[in-house]
Amino acid sequence: MQVPLLDLHAQNDPILDEIKAEMNKVMQSHQYILGPQVEKLEEKIAEYCDTKYAVGCASGTDALVLSLKALELEPGSEVITTTFTFFATASSIHRVGLVPKFVDVHPRTFNIDPNKIEAAITDKTKAIIVVHLFGQPAEMDKIMKIARKYDLKVIEDNAQGIGSKFNGKTAGSIGDVGTLSFFPSKNLGAMGDAGMCITNNQEIADRLRMLRVHGENPKYFHRWVGLNSRLDTIQAAVLLVKVKYVDNWSRMRQENADYYYENLEEVPQIALPYIHHKASSIYNQFTLIAEKRDELISFLKKNKIGCAVYYPKPLHLQDCFSYLNYGKGDFPIAEDLAKKVISIPIYSELTKKQQDYIISKIKEFYK
Ligand SMILES: *Cc1c(COP(=O)(O)O)cnc(C)c1O
Repeated sequence: MQVPLLDLHAQNDPILDEIKAEMNKVMQSHQYILGPQVEKLEEKIAEYCDTKYAVGCASGTDALVLSLKALELEPGSEVITTTFTFFATASSIHRVGLVPKFVDVHPRTFNIDPNKIEAAITDKTKAIIVVHLFGQPAEMDKIMKIARKYDLKVIEDNAQGIGSKFNGKTAGSIGDVGTLSFFPSKNLGAMGDAGMCITNNQEIADRLRMLRVHGENPKYFHRWVGLNSRLDTIQAAVLLVKVKYVDNWSRMRQENADYYYENLEEVPQIALPYIHHKASSIYNQFTLIAEKRDELISFLKKNKIGCAVYYPKPLHLQDCFSYLNYGKGDFPIAEDLAKKVISIPIYSELTKKQQDYIISKIKEFYK
């Protein structure tokens, strides 16, 4: 038996004809740049995420850059974020001339610890980028309260959490602006790069629409220095097909998670993902805290089970951020998690037989 970490064949092959038909329509229309499919997708995603507006762009990374630009923060302002996330969360802050200020995470949810945010706030702090890691929203009630108290903008990096909820509210719709990635491994994945910003604020939405086309409005008149970052029309066509299935796919991931909870709970050497009682997760990843993590990885790989470490090095320790003068020991929880976490297959089409195999191999390893 063999189980990949993610199986895009299993996801895309059954709907390939449908996708090809929609791609064909774009090719026959030759409307490659901001064709009608982009706007249609924006409407669908806004509806799915409970926001008034959605603005497509070239990637989840660009969605973060565009969102930060749209907030028009003073150059040199500090933006608080988690140190335990994908690189793009913090690189986007750096790229627009702002300063990342890292905060440690909660040891079980892996999300930014709201109780540690206030200590990181200075006179220069102007925003927080919250990440809904592995598909579980961060504690948005506490975070929004802090943001209001200190008058900070909030961006939700929702690349991994489309459709998840906190306290009944849809992730990405709670702060000033939310960002999405349609990278192929996310719950809603394109066949290439694509991203989107979502917001309830019309002014921000209008600015985002200009910023993604060089900050121009009208054409050739530039109010801002924007990007060339449009959501490709062919990718929009792919996503218009796939968006119909995303709810079901995320539900299937939750069912797979439930099966792991039922069958791996009694293994004392691992801790299963902990979901906050006000949160629901879409399980973009199923991430364990595991004893002897590196040996477990070798064992699973030897048995042809896909797994990965998200993320092996917290961002405050990355070489490119050495100018921020963080050091080892600054964020001990994230540093510890980087040594202990492992993500195992959770994709929607995973079969019971495959899960049983994974479960038996994990048990065998710790026996
Ligand atoms: C995937 C991801 C991104 C970046 O998305 P791209 O579409 O690959 O640019 C940003 N933040 C997080 C947390 C991600 O998981």
